[in-house]
Amino acid sequence: MIGCSCAVCTSGNPKDKRLRSSILIESPTTTIVIDTTPDFRCQMLRVHNTKLDAVLFTHPHKDHIAGLDDIRAYNFFQQKPMDVYANALTAEALKHEFAYVFADKKYPGIPQINLHTIDETPFVIGDIPIQPFTVWHHKMPVFGYRFQKFTYITDANRIDDHVKEMIAGSGIIVLNALRREKHISHFTLGEAIALVQELKIPNAYFTHISHQLGKHEEVEKQLPPGSHLGYDGLQLLV
Ligand SMILES: [Zn+2]
Ligand SMILES: [Zn+2]
Repeated sequence: MIGCSCAVCTSGNPKDKRLRSSILIESPTTTIVIDTTPDFRCQMLRVHNTKLDAVLFTHPHKDHIAGLDDIRAYNFFQQKPMDVYANALTAEALKHEFAYVFADKKYPGIPQINLHTIDETPFVIGDIPIQPFTVWHHKMPVFGYRFQKFTYITDANRIDDHVKEMIAGSGIIVLNALRREKHISHFTLGEAIALVQELKIPNAYFTHISHQLGKHEEVEKQLPPGSHLGYDGLQLLV
């Protein structure tokens, strides 16, 4: 947090250095990123990522979309527009927030985007099957995504029963857990742990962590078996 000198913000442990929430999903042929955060450029440089086939968005909050302009690097190298997938609310927001990208008269060098507005119909990118579903971020509909045994949910604090059924049977879930204190639009750590137990998902990694949650090492020790704090650079084999 800018300007903060708490134990987390001054920690020397790299696992306490958290950029904004995003994941990269890779199969032998296909690479997808979920959300282009304000840190997107740094995140792609950090892992030396050289290929990107598509971007999936969860919701239009700035900490999940602000880095979209930087996909233009992939436009240059891949010589084609980027396929971008979002629910209707997010697609409309992208057109406002990045009006120059969607303008009739475009200036040179701006991102080239194929915007696909999606609903909860399953679809495939390359060799990766994707099941979108809606979760609730206070009153905002947010897309979570299931990739066979792997489920990714960020920025939620409520999940409808029929969606819980869509998530059940996952082997690994990444789920937002902001802090211990109640929040209007994010699961707390306790709520996230309870949901993982309710859904009987064997492996959980918590994400979208505030500095208010505490230091990685200390919180990690207090989690039930199978549950972990995510951290920047974490890689999972599914
Ligand atoms: Zn949000
Ligand atoms: Zn967020």
